[in-house]
Amino acid sequence: MPDTQFELNKNNAAQYVLEKTNIFNKTDPIDVQEVSNENDNSEADGYINFVFRLSQNGKSYILKQARPYTRVRILDALPLPVERNFLEYVSFVLRDGLAKGAAPKVFFADAENGVFIMEDLAAKNLRVMRFQLNEGREFPGFAQKFATFLARSHFYTSELFLDKDVFRALQKDFFNVPMRNIMEDVVLRRFVKPGDDSPLGLVGELVWNSPNLRLETLKARDVLIKKTECLVHGDLHTSNIFISDDEMSVIDMEYSFVGPYSYDLGYFLANFVSQYAAFSFNSGFSAEKRARFREYLLNSIAEVLENYFDLFRENFNKDAKPIYKNAPGYLEYLFKDILKETMGFM
Ligand code: ADP
Ligand code: MG
Repeated sequence: MPDTQFELNKNNAAQYVLEKTNIFNKTDPIDVQEVSNENDNSEADGYINFVFRLSQNGKSYILKQARPYTRVRILDALPLPVERNFLEYVSFVLRDGLAKGAAPKVFFADAENGVFIMEDLAAKNLRVMRFQLNEGREFPGFAQKFATFLARSHFYTSELFLDKDVFRALQKDFFNVPMRNIMEDVVLRRFVKPGDDSPLGLVGELVWNSPNLRLETLKARDVLIKKTECLVHGDLHTSNIFISDDEMSVIDMEYSFVGPYSYDLGYFLANFVSQYAAFSFNSGFSAEKRARFREYLLNSIAEVLENYFDLFRENFNKDAKPIYKNAPGYLEYLFKDILKETMGFM
């Protein structure tokens, strides 16, 4: 890392891209939008990094920059090294190789300044999934696509498939302590500082002060800390999924680390539970619509799990090492744990 990071902004981003890459021509105007700034874009949902959209003659790209501080100062106390950006870039390359088309293509990385460039999913009419669920939209076929992405990126980065040495190297390179600390020490310990009287603070306090919830939270945290099964996405929620009627794409991979299979599943499916809660009383919809949508959400949870286990089994039967493949009952033993832990994280 250089002593001073080059900080991208709306005025210098076009020049930066012209100097560093040849994705644009040097003559036509380039439009720059700061996607991560709410004033520029109401469809953005991220708090940590700086995201820009650059377009020229109808062709557009996304630039993502990591800084040593968060964009919205919610995690000020935690050190966030800029190196996470290059790890994120590598995660994109890996995931694209493991589950073709399930992640935006990446084109360029500047490790020194914590910047990489990727495909603009909005140009293909994909939108953040959370906002579309808020509108009561259903996505037939989503569970299959999502489970394909997850089962493939989990199984093929696990030691069930990888040579032990490769798996150990992956584990080391993706230890990702700063980012996993956010999950281990913020999300799964005490979400808020004592005395925080914001609504989020009060809910966090409530959870932490309930002996049962605290115990179950610590059990889930235990699983997260102790299990190193595969490369997990690590922040897999519905704002990090872009979707249309036919396509789905997963973004925001800076939390990738080697952890438990169940973490991504439970963390993701929890979003369907919170949507279920919202659709229990959201006055913007009729009672019939709310009931139908709640049923859709519950079915989606079941479908994601069924598809995940089916596809995991398919990959396992094809490509697991013989010692695992030839051990009757091994997969059942594994699935039982994954299901139980998933419920815990959820
Ligand atoms: P953070 O790490 O801060 O959460 P994200 O990677 O989630 O950042 O990106 C923040 C926002 O930027 C997203 O909610 C989305 O609106 C936009 N964005 C990020 N990547 C893309 C992309 N490849 N195509 C279109 N929009 C994107
Ligand atoms: Mg995000």
